[in-house]
Amino acid sequence: MTGPLSQKLFAAAKEKIPGGVNSPVRAFRNVGGEPFFVRRAKGSRIEDVDGKTYIDYIGSWGPNILGHAPTVVTNTIHEVAKDGISFGIPNPFEVEMARVICDWVPSVEKVRMCSSGTEATMSAIRLARGFTKRDYIVKFNGCYHGHSDSLLVAAGSGALTHGEPDSAGVPRAFAEKTIVLPYNDVAALEKVFDEQGEQIAAIIVESYPANAGLVFPKPGYLDLLSSITKKHGALLIFDEVMTGFRLGKAGVQGIENLTPDLSCFGKVIGGGLPVGAFGGRADVMDMLAPLGPVYQAGTLSGNPLAMAAGLAQLKELGKVSGFPRLEQLGAHFEAGLRSLLDAKGMPYRFNRTGSMFCLFFTDREIVNVDDVMKQDLELFKKFFWGCLDKGIYIAPSPYETGFLSLAHTEADLDDTLTVFDEVLTAI
Ligand code: PLP
Repeated sequence: MTGPLSQKLFAAAKEKIPGGVNSPVRAFRNVGGEPFFVRRAKGSRIEDVDGKTYIDYIGSWGPNILGHAPTVVTNTIHEVAKDGISFGIPNPFEVEMARVICDWVPSVEKVRMCSSGTEATMSAIRLARGFTKRDYIVKFNGCYHGHSDSLLVAAGSGALTHGEPDSAGVPRAFAEKTIVLPYNDVAALEKVFDEQGEQIAAIIVESYPANAGLVFPKPGYLDLLSSITKKHGALLIFDEVMTGFRLGKAGVQGIENLTPDLSCFGKVIGGGLPVGAFGGRADVMDMLAPLGPVYQAGTLSGNPLAMAAGLAQLKELGKVSGFPRLEQLGAHFEAGLRSLLDAKGMPYRFNRTGSMFCLFFTDREIVNVDDVMKQDLELFKKFFWGCLDKGIYIAPSPYETGFLSLAHTEADLDDTLTVFDEVLTAI
């Protein structure tokens, strides 16, 4: 149950905003209730408009890797804003951002900035089609790449939460150009490439799928995506919007030692402001306008505030050895959670990599979205509301991944595990 001010705001919101929210998962529909409204957030904590505080495990769905409102980022925004907020003319921060991305992610020889992860994946798909002169793309069931038409087919995240994997309004003719395959299924992939390989422009894959729970590739699966695209003259697009700059300097491709043709980014590189980026092989990127025939643009692309905020966040991450510290926090959380759940004898699966984690109330092995859908949803709902009541904010859907930030402390994590214990005992 949310507080009276949140309830009042939600009632007002519903009158003027469809469903009362500007992004569906925020409506809490999957847990059967209403959202709280935020007054402010700092570090690992959020305070709602009724004055209640929560330890936050969402971090704005990924961008806030240093925690909420880190001083390095807020100071930068204040300073840079004094000189202007948007120019629509090149600015030096864009050049520095491009250099940092290319330095940190070796597969990226050139990069183009945009304003969201959706724009990044949508543009990468158009570029792949333009470069290969082919129309079909392959995506995986449960992978979410934002809400552009070609990609909103069998998608995860909010689309899964609302039980509508496909959206109304996506023309059948578009959806038909998107081949959807089960994730981690080698035979299905090989069959499609055997039959249609010469028509496929690209495979797009969430580098570690994290919008239908958190699912890991079977050993060799990502290598297969790379070799099969190469063999058939298609491109491999890694969607690292969530994992990029969160799981290490070079994201999953760094961990798995892979070189995708194109990669998509967002979230962390914007420092909490609206940013996306896509980049990769120079010969492919040079197909973009104004050099080449593939059009892509944006009024706010490379916005100085967003670039400076993102750069401040990335520099801080590098400076404070952010990634090893996030792994340390993740490992601490995982050890505590496993000993708690093992002691309770509950069926569960817990997937984690660095600061990303997902708890599943099931004993099924989690191989793809079908396994994710079979967990105990009623138990999850009770768990969610029990935690919220006691000041722990986890995602209001069992299909979302949780995030730790550098602002979380071992004490925060231990307090959270105590709450988990109390809630699970109560239910
Ligand atoms: N790709 C992935 C893997 C995502 O997780 C998301 C958003 O959660 C997107 C793309 C879309 O990004 P945005 O919401 O910034 O448009």
